[in-house]
Amino acid sequence: MSRWEENIRKVIPYTPGEQPNQPDMIKLNTNENPYPPAPGVEKALREMDTDTMRLYPDPTAGELVHAIAKNYGLKDEQVFVGVGSDDVLAMSFLTFFNSQKPVLFPDITYSFYDVWADLFRIPYERPALDENFHIRTEDYFRENGGIVFPNPNAPTGVEMPLEEVEDIIRHNPDVIVIVDEAYVDFGSQSALPLIEKYDNLLVVQTFSKSRSMAGMRIGFACGNEKLIRFLNDVKYSFNSYTMDRTAIAAGVAAVEDKAYFDETCNKIIETREWTKKELKALGFSFQDSMSNFIFATHKTCPAKELFEALRGQHIYVRYFQKDRIDNFLRITVGTKEEMQKFIDFLKDYLK
Ligand code: PMP
Repeated sequence: MSRWEENIRKVIPYTPGEQPNQPDMIKLNTNENPYPPAPGVEKALREMDTDTMRLYPDPTAGELVHAIAKNYGLKDEQVFVGVGSDDVLAMSFLTFFNSQKPVLFPDITYSFYDVWADLFRIPYERPALDENFHIRTEDYFRENGGIVFPNPNAPTGVEMPLEEVEDIIRHNPDVIVIVDEAYVDFGSQSALPLIEKYDNLLVVQTFSKSRSMAGMRIGFACGNEKLIRFLNDVKYSFNSYTMDRTAIAAGVAAVEDKAYFDETCNKIIETREWTKKELKALGFSFQDSMSNFIFATHKTCPAKELFEALRGQHIYVRYFQKDRIDNFLRITVGTKEEMQKFIDFLKDYLK
C-alpha cells in the first residue's frame, strides 16, 4: 500500500440501481415513471435556441425556481433547485449537518444518507423501524445534530402521518429536519404547508418520479428564506452552474402542466392499488405503500429466487441483500399492461 493511501478520504460508495439495456424489458427496478414527461417538455426542448449553449446558464436557475414557487404558492426565496434531489440532499447535508452530535435517520431507509454522512464526516445514528416498518417518532425526540427521513419511506413505501412529521419538527427546534418527499405525489400528505410555521424544516422533492424526468435530473428544496440562502451560499461555493439550460426549460414546462401531472399520478395510484390486490391473492404480504412502488415478501418463495426468475423474463425489480429486508422485492409500479405481464408471470411461476 502506498503511504498516501493511508491519508486520503475513502468511502464505501452508494450502489445505484441497475440500469439494464434490453429493448424488450419491463423495468420495475428504479422507481421511474412509465409515462412520458408532459407534452410541453418536448415542445420546450424543440424550441430551444442552440446558440444559447455557448453561454453559461443562469446560476440561480431563476425561471425554474419561479415556476416551482408559483406552483406551490411560495416565494422564489423559499425554493432551491439542484441536479436531482440527490444533489439537493447532498448540498443540504453539507450545509446543515455539521455538529458534533449525531444526525438521525431510520435504519431501513434511502441508502444514500449514510454514504453522504460518511463522505462529509457527519456522525449519525439509525433508530430501527418497528416490526411493521413504521418510523417510531419518539426515537427522534433525543439530542441530535439534525434529522432526515423520506416520507413515504424508501424502500418500504410506508407513509408517516403529517401530525407525526410535525411532532418531530416541533420537538427539534434547534436542528434542521429534512423531509425527503421523493414519493409524496402518489397519494401522501406533503409537509410543504408547514414551512411557514417552522423555520427548521426543509422539504425536498424531485422531478424524477411524479414528473417522469429522472433522465433530466431536477430536484428542489423548499423552506424558510434563511435556509434557502444558506443552501445557495454553499452551492455557489461548490459549483454554481449545475442546472443546465435544457433542464431549466424542460423543468418549467413540466411544472406548468398541472393537468398532465394529476392524470399520470392518478393512473399510477390506480395501477398500484390493482397490483396490490393481485399480489395479495398470490400470497405476497406488504405494508400499505403510498409510493410508486410496492415492497413485498412472499409467504413461501424466497425473494432472491423470484428476482432471478423475473430477470430471466427481462422483468427487472429491485432486490436488496441487506439485513431484515433480504426476503423482499421492491416493485416499481409500471403501466397497467406491464403490471399485467408481471402478474401473469408470477401466477404461472408460483402455481
Ligand atoms: N430520495 C429518495 C428516497 C429516493 O428513493 C431517491 C431516488 N433514488 C432520491 C431521493 C433521489 O432521486 P433523484 O436524485 O432522481 O431526484
